[in-house]
This record gives sequence, C-alpha cells and structure tokens, in this order.
Amino acid sequence: MTTDKTRLRIAIQKSGRLSRDSEKLLSQLGVKFVMRDNRLIAHAENLPIDILRVRDDDIPALVMDGIIDLGIVGQNVLEEVELERQADAMPARYRELKALGFGKCRLSLAIPEDEEFASAEALDGKIIATSYPRLLGRYLAAKGTSFKNCQLNGSVEVAPRAGLADAICDLVSTGATLEANGLKEVEVIYRSQATLIAREQAFEPAKQQLIDTLMTRLQGVLSARE
Ligand code: ATP
Ligand code: ZN
Repeated sequence: MTTDKTRLRIAIQKSGRLSRDSEKLLSQLGVKFVMRDNRLIAHAENLPIDILRVRDDDIPALVMDGIIDLGIVGQNVLEEVELERQADAMPARYRELKALGFGKCRLSLAIPEDEEFASAEALDGKIIATSYPRLLGRYLAAKGTSFKNCQLNGSVEVAPRAGLADAICDLVSTGATLEANGLKEVEVIYRSQATLIAREQAFEPAKQQLIDTLMTRLQGVLSARE
C-alpha cells in the first residue's frame, strides 16, 4: 500500500499512549478508516486522507521536513526534536494548530527519596538520566546550571539505583513509577499534552480547504468536551 501526494497525510503514533486518543479524534472529525494491525498506512474511505502510523519520535521530523502534512504528537517530543534540529542546523519549523487536551503529563526532576532537595541549581554538574537532554538543558541553563547527560531512551527510572546517575528527568503522570523505584519528584520542568501540528510550507488550495474543514470540526469536538 502506498500513498499519493494529493491526499492529506496525517501521522499518528502507531502504538502507545497517544494512539487510541489520536484514532478516536480522527473518527470524531468524520474521518472513516479501518486500522489493520500492522499496517503503516490507512486510507480514509470518505475523504482524501491517508493516516500514517509511526513511532511518536519520528512525527516531528516528518512534519518539519514537509514529508507529512499534519501530525499528532506530545509537545515534549516536539520541542525536544525542535531543539535538537536547531542545534544541528536542520529544518525545524512547523505550525502548531491546536493543543488537543489528551496525553497530559509533566517532565520532572526526581531524586532518591532519602535525599534532601535544595534546588535545581544544587544539581549543578551532577549526572542526570533523561530522554530529553535538550529540554532539561534549556531549563537548567536558564538557571545558570549545567548537568552531565546520561541519555537513556527507556528505563530512565532505574538509573540512580543502578549507580548510573544522581537524578533523573522523566515523564510523570501519577508518580507511581517513581515511587516504585525509590524516587521522589522534586521539580516540574515542562508540562505537556498532545498537539496537532502542520508543516510550515503552504498547502495547495484543495488540501488547505480540507484542513480548514477539519479545524472547524475540531473546534466543535473540543468545545463539546468542556
Ligand atoms: P513509541 O514506540 O511510539 O516511540 P514511546 O514509548 O516513546 O512510544 P509512549 O510511552 O507511548 O511513547 O508515550 C507517548 C507520549 O505520551 C509521551 O511522549 C507523552 O507526550 C505522552 N504521555 C502522557 N502521559 C505519559 C506518561 N505518564 N509517561 C510517558 N508519556 C506520557
Ligand atoms: Zn517514542
């Protein structure tokens, strides 16, 4: 199965915390499609739209490179990729069309629960395990503080116990995972939710019209939720 460029391409997370809500939202916008288990692409039955299912980490770059028209992704991942691409002098522009109100979480600093926390500044020079070194770096730099990056893209919360890091900076929603690993949340550095983004380059009129229709419906869906 392939996709042709005249159809609106929307990327969503294939399987993870944003997948169900993303699929549900598209349905609420009147996009009819059937997701087959391992398929990368689903063609909408009633509109010229193709839905691409990928890793959430890949969504920002696909939009920034203009390969995909729209994407649904966490602001945390979006901004981390933006900072990374800016640092690498790669295209990093996009338009944020609407925050979607699901996938809410916070990116927080956490330390072993038996340790005292004075301030983020007191972590200066310490090793911090995270999947978001750029968001963390920006936050700490604003406080005149630096850290040593221990980049982990999974199992971040075990790093202090494993002797790899002094602290972590990870996504939290309830705090249960931190607690289970003997850690305590000490400072929120970033609040995130899922957001709808569009590529920066202008769309051809037919695509723009379709996006306008979807955005009008989205306003309706979001205000009905309030
Ligand atoms: P993928 O296989 O697509 O890379 P992943 O494991 O990186 O998946 P998920 O754990 O599914 O990603 O999280 C996707 C997004 O969901 C996060 O980037 C964040 O925006 C949001 N999210 C909401 N609550 C949480 C939470 N408690 N922990 C982690 N992410 C959360
Ligand atoms: Zn991911």
